[in-house]
Amino acid sequence: MSNDRMPRRGVLLIVASPSGAGKTSLCRRLMADHGGLELSVSMTTRPIRPGEQAGRDYHFVDEAEFQRLIEADAFLEWANVHGNLYGSPRAPVDRALAEGRDVLFDIDWQGAREVARRCPEDAVRVFILPPSLEELRRRLVTRSQDAEEVIDRRIRNAKGEIEHATEFDYVFVNDDFDRSYAELAHIYHAERSRRFRNVWVSGYQQALLNEKV
Ligand code: 5GP
Repeated sequence: MSNDRMPRRGVLLIVASPSGAGKTSLCRRLMADHGGLELSVSMTTRPIRPGEQAGRDYHFVDEAEFQRLIEADAFLEWANVHGNLYGSPRAPVDRALAEGRDVLFDIDWQGAREVARRCPEDAVRVFILPPSLEELRRRLVTRSQDAEEVIDRRIRNAKGEIEHATEFDYVFVNDDFDRSYAELAHIYHAERSRRFRNVWVSGYQQALLNEKV
């Protein structure tokens, strides 16, 4: 019998890091390898970048629409990050949890704090640190999706993000993609196996104890 088929309380897996620390690639791989894990596609007021796809990477909306959604209480959390508004729509998260799926959030420390406050049992917070700020800058320049001044601002903001690393449940340095991916997958697997999430265990245990052998 596979554990994956059993009714389980979902994990809200929150992965945060300064931009450029490799979080997005690690999250994409985790999703590709785990069918029961669904990405929370955030809404943002920031302009779309080359290579990004609306509805896949973000839902891109203007500020008036974002404000309307805040007033309608449509976000599980929202925050101002690097001068733009970002938020996690609530409805897809509720739906995923009700259907026994897990949700992955690629959000900042403010969002992580808010989801953990609202869903203390379900939230699992992971923080990914870059090997150094110099390496972070190199990655942002190589990615070169942003103007120089934006990169400068992101580096400054990285320090603000790193200041909050100690609030997280799990922390590791991303100096090697494969090693970091294994770390992230282990965290996810361990959290899925926690007994309180596995609501089927008592019944299963009883069935085992009643088995005539
Ligand atoms: P980027 O503009 O580079 O895609 O994202 C900038 C930062 O905003 C990243 O740290 C990203 O994790 C964070 N972010 C993306 N979506 C959300 C969200 O829905 N809520 C919060 N609080 N942060 C978000």
